Amino acid sequence: MDGNRRGFLKATGLTILALGTGSVTVLRTARARSDASSQPGGAPPGAAPALRGSRWALLVDTTRCKAREGCKDCSAACHLVHNVPALPEPKHEVKWIWTEQFRHVFPDAGHEFMAPAALERPLPLLCNQCENPPCVRVCPTKATWKRADGIVMMDWHRCIGCRFCVVGCPYGARSFNWRDPRPFVLQQNPDFPTRTRGVVEKCNFCEERLARGLLPSCVGACKHQALVFGDLDDPSSEIRRRLRAVRTLRRKPALGTSPKVFYVV
Ligand code: SF4
Repeated sequence: MDGNRRGFLKATGLTILALGTGSVTVLRTARARSDASSQPGGAPPGAAPALRGSRWALLVDTTRCKAREGCKDCSAACHLVHNVPALPEPKHEVKWIWTEQFRHVFPDAGHEFMAPAALERPLPLLCNQCENPPCVRVCPTKATWKRADGIVMMDWHRCIGCRFCVVGCPYGARSFNWRDPRPFVLQQNPDFPTRTRGVVEKCNFCEERLARGLLPSCVGACKHQALVFGDLDDPSSEIRRRLRAVRTLRRKPALGTSPKVFYVV
């Protein structure tokens, strides 16, 4: 974050800051929020009713996932829909869905006698939408918060770029915009806001799509049915059925964050 922006924030407040940092983004955000919240049921006219849940979660069936064969359909769809920039320098990378090797994702679940291919296979990762999110606790401006349905949200106009949340997240799920991301958005989606230099971003479980009655973009893009999205508070949901039927892992459960992304491994 540059000094001008910080000073402006202190001096004039968040509303004026939002106007000063990019009216185009503000208008887009307002439109996205209007679509999501001003219509009955949270959906614009003609759209399906919003999907309702009280504890949204995702199951990743890695036995079906084809990431090891190079499939990137989920991350490509997510990044396209959310205007995630494709920055060339790895140190500036912004990511909502990415992959890491099994041995790093579940360091306590592997052992030296596993096949190297199993230890090294890539697994898709994203924000875990933690039940008890440390990122929310450390944010000094309430730019990130947990909704009633469990989704951990970001307000880019309240974000002052302090990166406490980046440090607070034990999963590396938050990216900081070290430079203006807009020139690196491959194909801009006008229905979702772009971001500015100096703010943090992450997966939002496609809350804007849920408001239109749509499943998250990654779930819709996966041709292999490796992703199951649903409400943990609905015992009849497909995700609850799968969680009863198969053994799953969550990342770093000992930390007490209670991740809501489950992995069939
Ligand atoms: Fe916050 Fe990280 Fe948990 Fe997502 S995974 S809710 S960013 S602590």
